[in-house]
Amino acid sequence: MLIDNHNRNINYLRLAVTDRCNLRCNYCMPSEGIDFVKNDKLLTIDELISVSEILVGQGIDKIRITGGEPFVRKDLMVLLRALSKMTGLNDISVTTNATLIGPYIDELKELGIKNVNVSLDSINKETFERITRRDQFDTVHNNLIRLITEGFNVRINFIVLDGQNEQDMIPILEVMKHYNVSVRFLEEMPFNGGTKNFSGIKWHHKAILDHVAQAYPEFEKLESPKTSTSVNYKIKGHAGTFGIIPSFTRTFCGSCNRLRITATGDVITCLYGKPKANVRDIVRGESAKENIEKTILKAIGTRAKTGFEAQKEHSQTVFDNSMTSIGG
Ligand code: SAM
Ligand code: SF4
Repeated sequence: MLIDNHNRNINYLRLAVTDRCNLRCNYCMPSEGIDFVKNDKLLTIDELISVSEILVGQGIDKIRITGGEPFVRKDLMVLLRALSKMTGLNDISVTTNATLIGPYIDELKELGIKNVNVSLDSINKETFERITRRDQFDTVHNNLIRLITEGFNVRINFIVLDGQNEQDMIPILEVMKHYNVSVRFLEEMPFNGGTKNFSGIKWHHKAILDHVAQAYPEFEKLESPKTSTSVNYKIKGHAGTFGIIPSFTRTFCGSCNRLRITATGDVITCLYGKPKANVRDIVRGESAKENIEKTILKAIGTRAKTGFEAQKEHSQTVFDNSMTSIGG
């Protein structure tokens, strides 16, 4: 088991497989993209498998694949096939923008990978294209409906952006009310590659809940797992649920069970903090297993208690990071 210095059990790894992406969401990166890393700085698929195996041996039992956009990596299925056979790994999930997932849906199903988070910040084509700066709405929408109707456990991530998509919060719940899907509204975080001034947010979790409650007064709060980052609700008459993730307000740190490894091998114990170590050279060196185990133990033994404490590890530069390189 991996227990951190605040007695939290770390069993959930978010593993980024690339920092590249085919969209340019304006809350994530500038229109010209960021300085994407060269291929030799990325962990290879074999290295990603080795690192996963070692961490599963240490007590990780859930891995979420993220990025950048995971499906821009052509060899992603090789990793997913290996993960699906890994003893001790009980839950594999993927976070994707759903632009490229179409050809892989059948195999994901065969592998038993059924938890897919789809990022969709608007149900309106023009708004979607303004936010993502790409013409991909129809593809994303078709893939989303296919995933839902083929029985995947789908959660939609919708970041509420002041002046951009707040008018779509109720429409997306209305469109999705016939489907067994969870729509999760996220607070915007300041990891946009330094493109926007970020002094605070209008759409914090309370404002989001008030807004939804005005449209749907009949809803109930659901029981959620202790480590859940979302507070979840059910609206009367809706097939699915909705949730709110206070990702900027950070009310969930007390039960955080997560560890992140970026596409370049950085070990991140809190989104808001600095990398604690890097495993790329270690996995390429002698005694990789033993050295990675030590590195991970040391990293989780020095975790900040909260995201606010972790943020102090940075000077101002924290807000220059992009979510695509941190691994969202
Ligand atoms: N490309 C994939 C996608 O968009 O789903 C996976 C990587 S993306 C960085 C992971 C998650 O981070 C997405 O749900 C995205 O919406 C979220 N994200 C990116 N930038 C964010 C920001 N500034 N604030 C809050 N969430 C953000
Ligand atoms: Fe790409 Fe995901 Fe970032 Fe959008 S949020 S630019 S889809 S990595």
